[in-house]
Amino acid sequence: MHAIKSLVIVGGGTAGWMAAAFFAKRFTGCAMTITLVESTEIGTIGVGEATVPSMKMFLADLGIDEREFIQNTQATCKLGIDFNGWWQQDTAFFHPFAMFGAKIAHIPFHHYWAYLRAQGQAGPIDDYSLPAQMARANKFALPKDEALDIARFNYAYHFDAGSFANYLSRFAQTLGVKHIEARVTHVLKNADTGNISTLILNNGKEIEGDFFIDCSGFRALLIEENLHTGYQDWSHWLPCDRALALPCAHQGYIPPYTRALACTAGWQWRIPLQHRHGNGYVYSSHYISDDQALAELTQHMHAKPTADPRVIRFTTGMRNKCWNKNVFALGLSSGFLEPLESTSIYMVQTALATLFTYFPTTADNIALSTKVNKILAEHNEKLRDFIILHYHLNQRIGMDFWDACRAAPLPDSLSNRIEEFRATGNIRFNDLDFFQISSWLAMFSGFQLLPQYQHPKILHTNKTLIIQELQQMRNAIQRVVRELPEHHQFIAKNASLT
Ligand code: FAD
Repeated sequence: MHAIKSLVIVGGGTAGWMAAAFFAKRFTGCAMTITLVESTEIGTIGVGEATVPSMKMFLADLGIDEREFIQNTQATCKLGIDFNGWWQQDTAFFHPFAMFGAKIAHIPFHHYWAYLRAQGQAGPIDDYSLPAQMARANKFALPKDEALDIARFNYAYHFDAGSFANYLSRFAQTLGVKHIEARVTHVLKNADTGNISTLILNNGKEIEGDFFIDCSGFRALLIEENLHTGYQDWSHWLPCDRALALPCAHQGYIPPYTRALACTAGWQWRIPLQHRHGNGYVYSSHYISDDQALAELTQHMHAKPTADPRVIRFTTGMRNKCWNKNVFALGLSSGFLEPLESTSIYMVQTALATLFTYFPTTADNIALSTKVNKILAEHNEKLRDFIILHYHLNQRIGMDFWDACRAAPLPDSLSNRIEEFRATGNIRFNDLDFFQISSWLAMFSGFQLLPQYQHPKILHTNKTLIIQELQQMRNAIQRVVRELPEHHQFIAKNASLT
């Protein structure tokens, strides 16, 4: 079997162009050709506009300047997600990309906070989060490296998916990626190995390849239609199966956060960009019709739609194997959890890094593919658990969809985490957990789940001192927030607003 010298990517959506840019950069100077084929006739999904902070690393890794990125993709900054109505209607909490508070005498902040909160002597946990308070005040500035614990935070972006793909396309082609606009109509396999060998295009041309990256979206052209890899359906845990996307005009201001509003049979997103707001309703078709979902979505929008509504169907879950034979599935072809925590693009990034770490010399390498599939499955399962938690802990009692979400059995991995937190106040994680203590804590506290345990050291500490310490943190955060510019001022400085 010969060494891999040609990489063929099918699909030119976010996943396809991220892969092209990433591998073009990684294989610069190597005898590796990279070809991307996409059908503009089929088009891309066109949603997927909110990210997590790892996107900054992706850009930095490619050497892309933040300002240039903001200018080319209509991007805005994201400090976290504002969850509205999730615990009960008319309640809200914020999931920031930062720790809450700061350690007090070697004990994590949340132990002290939970102890005082249970006695009504501490404010909501958002009071002790700089990004949550910045978000509430519509403020934004870049974090400072030397900042005190209390003032450290991270951030991500919202961006226009089409502009991002175009930008990466130019970037990748400058590095030598060959771009072909055509539709793949047939796929040929090697009769002995079952590996994919050739793509036949609608213009009659053929593309041969040693290794293929399937970025064909939900269609999963190579990994499923041709290799029949199979799919793990997780809809018994994550029951939403449709999304209605409907962008609207600018609403006059640019919030530095995504809003996730709980609705009758799912939730609604609002993603602010420089030139418009992305809106959408993610719902379960078992509990609401498309027409009812559209009526509910528009009722919560305060500006005119700028396009026709689009219904997107999906089944939550993941492919049995991301890597099967000489095909690696990336993006929607590898599976979809749902967009609640903006994790898909992060998974594209993680999958690319993992594949490169274990990149095979020849097409078939069962030992490597088994390893990679295991790592990616574990990543996905951890993200899945975190998202299920949002539905499970709701107290929207008397609403059919939410009652069913609360009652649905949980994966053991998630029940164990909830029980451990309830019993000990601790949250354990490893390298494969993207969401770490602060994120789980944002959820537990937002859903009013407090631990039943206090660390003995807390009981030995003078309570008045702890109250003062928390008060000082809150005041320090407010002082910092007052000094910061508005988010729209930050964006205007870094991009020309249209
Ligand atoms: P697509 O964008 O569907 O691209 C598929 C490509 O394959 C297209 O270029 C198409 O032309 C090509 N193609 C297909 N068949 C052929 C063929 N036969 N021949 C040639 N080319 C072909 N992710 C986030 O991180 N954050 C979010 O906020 C977020 N929100 C989302 C909301 C919704 C409702 C959905 C459904 C997804 C969301 N995602 C989000 C996920 C995100 O959109 C995707 O992970 C990302 O866009 C990658 O999509 P993709 O490139 O895999 O697929």
